[in-house]
Order: sequence, then C-alpha cells, then structure tokens
Amino acid sequence: MTHPSAEEYKRNVDILLVPLLAVNMEFVLIESTKAGRSASLTGSSPVRTGVLLTAALLCATGSIPATAQQPQVPTPPSWVPSRSQSAQGPVAVLQVRDNVYLLVADGSNITAQVGPDGVLLVDTSTGKLNDEIVLAIQQLSDQPIRWIINTHVHADHTGGNAALFRAGRSTPQNRFASGLGFPGSLPTGATIVAHESVLFRMSGLTGQTTPTPQDSWPVATFFGESKELYLNGEAIQVLHQAPAHTDGDSIVVFRHADIVSTGDLFNSTSYPVIDLKTGGTIDGVIDALNSIIDVTFPREKAEGGTYVIPGHGRISDEADVVIYRNMVTILRDRIRDLMQKGMTLDQVKAAKPTADYDPRWATTSWTGDMFVEAVYRTLTPSTTSPSTPQGSNR
Ligand SMILES: [Zn+2]
Repeated sequence: MTHPSAEEYKRNVDILLVPLLAVNMEFVLIESTKAGRSASLTGSSPVRTGVLLTAALLCATGSIPATAQQPQVPTPPSWVPSRSQSAQGPVAVLQVRDNVYLLVADGSNITAQVGPDGVLLVDTSTGKLNDEIVLAIQQLSDQPIRWIINTHVHADHTGGNAALFRAGRSTPQNRFASGLGFPGSLPTGATIVAHESVLFRMSGLTGQTTPTPQDSWPVATFFGESKELYLNGEAIQVLHQAPAHTDGDSIVVFRHADIVSTGDLFNSTSYPVIDLKTGGTIDGVIDALNSIIDVTFPREKAEGGTYVIPGHGRISDEADVVIYRNMVTILRDRIRDLMQKGMTLDQVKAAKPTADYDPRWATTSWTGDMFVEAVYRTLTPSTTSPSTPQGSNR
C-alpha cells in the first residue's frame, strides 16, 4: 500500500473538511441563534467558538478557497468615482457594499451612503477630524450631505454634528419629509435625525445651559419605534431600541445594500458599554442585539450575508453578533446568579465572572470589573429575586 504524498494528503483533508465545516457552521449558527433567544444561557460556548475559530484559521491558511468566504462586491455605479477601497490617512475609507462606505475617524465608525440624491451619514465621530471627514466624503461623492442620523447621544458619535451639518444642505424634499417646512424657516444645513431622547439630552432642560451647540442638535426627531427615509433608490429604516447602551439608541438598516449600522449597541472591540447616566440597561442591550440578529441574514455557509457596521471596530456579520449576544447573555446570567446568592458588588467582582472572556473583550477603558459593576447596578431587585442583596443594588 502506498502512502499519499503530503500534497495529496492535504488536498484530501481539505475536501473532507470543507463540507463538514460548512454543515457544522450552519448547524451551530441556527442552533445558537434559536437557543440564545431563550431567557437564559448557562454556560460558555467552546464548541461554537471552536468551530468558528477553526473556520477563521482555515480561511487564514488558505484551506478554504477565498471565493467561498468572500462575497463578490458589485462594481460601484458609474457616479461613484473610481478609487481604492481603502485609504491611508487620518480617516480610513472602506467600501462595504455597493454605495455604502465605512469611514473610521478618531476611533469611531461613520457610515456613508452616497449617490445622485446626496450623501447620508450615520454618526459624525468625535469632532476632531471634521475637515478630514468632509474631504473623505468629497472623494466619494460630489453631492452635498443631505442627512445625518445619530445612533445615540455620545460625543464620540455626535461630536462632528455641527461641522457636518454646516457642510451639508437640505433639500425641500427631505425637509418636508421630516416635517420641518421649507428652507428659510430654519437653517438649511444637513437634516439631523435621531430619536427624541438624543435631542433632549443634547439640548438639556429648559432654563439650563445647553450641553451642546444648537446647530449640532437633531431636528428631525421621532418618538415611535422607527423612522423611514428613502435616498439614492434605497429604503433606510431607523429603528429605535429600548433603553440599552443609552435611552436613545437606534440601529440603521440599509435595505438595498443589506447593511446594518448599530452604533454602540454592538462593538467588535469591547464588552458593551452600559451608560447608566443616560438610562442604559443590560437587558436592553441583549434585546437590541436580538433586534440586530432579527434584521440580519447569513450568507450560505453562515459567513457574510448582511454586513454589520459596529460603533467601533471591524465590519462584522450575523455570526459575529450571535457570538457577542451569547457572551453578553452568559455574563448577565452569571452575575445575576451571584446576586441571587446574596453577594455584594465587591463579592461579585471578586468572583471574577468575566475572567474567561477578559482576554478578548476587556480594555483599559472598559474593564471586566467596570462591565460587571454596570450589569450589577442595572439588574433590579425583581430580576434578581428571590434573594436580593440588601442595600447593594443602587
Ligand atoms: Zn456610545
């Protein structure tokens, strides 16, 4: 009996592995998508993580043909200037799909949809690179900024509002669609859209000094579950979420390009930040992650499909959000279990419920302990019954 050469052996292993892997990934994704929606996940997910990590490793080493994992990016329409897909410099630009681009400025993600009707932005970064952002947008389109959507109030997503508002120009159509009346009745920069909670927090209470300048405020606000826009031949949904990262979070769904911009409800770089000062809650974060999973679809064999642009970090897909949702749910349940045993905040921290996830998700600015404390403080006595710790849940 002759032994196969190394090349033959590798080829045979590849032939066997790829379909097995595909079946496993599909099964794992479906299983975790459904299972994770139940109220409680009680263990870590080494199998899921292992399979997906294996897939990543195989892709990285070339065992899976590149065409099997990389969706074909359609050729941009003729009105999009030809350019490289990424640019060096203070603002990195990456074509996500079709006429939708990711701009990374000062560590925050901006989504830009461009076309003959003008430019629509999701978030405006910190305000430190306004000129560079405008220059980057001008490389993508010769049309003005028409719309700016804020996913939430934080300054690293609204800091450039005023400058990009002034760099833009509304049309009678988009002002009328927002109920703002015709140009002349209000300043005619870009139209800024957000949930009304964002406006309340940026404008402050009546009689008090406003926290932010007036031309940075969203004027086209909404108070229901969603707001609908239509630009460049594409339906765009702004979907409000229950109090989660803050009390004014929205995700933005580009229905034609099949892209979701999530703001800080999903980050590929850290545990989710729960901002208690602006009404954030852990259960709201998990609900919002499930909402993102609801509007995303996996491509065949699970990778790709709907692209997800997080508030910070890399372009992701549904599987990334499912893994993240599972991690957050597991940690919420661990902390709740410890609270039900009567542990104080210090005791819960000492139990290190995030220890196995910290190497991947803890950062210096949002550590495992900080995440534990935020989760602890957001879980109410009713959610931690029957034995709520005394005097420790404020
Ligand atoms: Zn934020």
